[in-house]
Amino acid sequence: MTQPEDAGEVGRPEPGCLFCKIVSGEVPATVVRDEERTLAFRDINPQAPTHVLVIPKAHFADAAALATVDDGLLDEVVRTAHGVAVDDGVAESGYRIVFNTGAGAGQTVFHVHAHVLGGRGLNWPPG
Ligand code: AMP
Ligand code: ZN
Repeated sequence: MTQPEDAGEVGRPEPGCLFCKIVSGEVPATVVRDEERTLAFRDINPQAPTHVLVIPKAHFADAAALATVDDGLLDEVVRTAHGVAVDDGVAESGYRIVFNTGAGAGQTVFHVHAHVLGGRGLNWPPG
């Protein structure tokens, strides 16, 4: 699989990576969950009443890279996403976890993140 040039070396902090800067505190974010290896914060441009991004604190470019290198950490990202949905009161009504993977699928930040979307009806198929 080809990666953008700024995709970075898996697991290591990537200079210039926006989400690594949120992990280090250099860039502020509205953090809703701070776990040992994952961080959840509200999306700056929310597309639903609940729109939270869940990331591993370590840098991986996308879900495929994370799954290849450390599949236990991907589990933790999904568990944290569910915790966010419970905390926001959308777990029972239903929520969506989305990993945009690759520029063609809309990925713009190449530090893997799960979008947690809920609190409104969500259409299928997505756009
Ligand atoms: P994607 O397009 O899947 O890579 O998602 C990137 C997401 O990051 C978008 O939904 C953006 O709104 C969000 N985003 C960009 N900058 C920030 C930021 N500083 N804090 C929180 N969310 C951000
Ligand atoms: Zn990063």
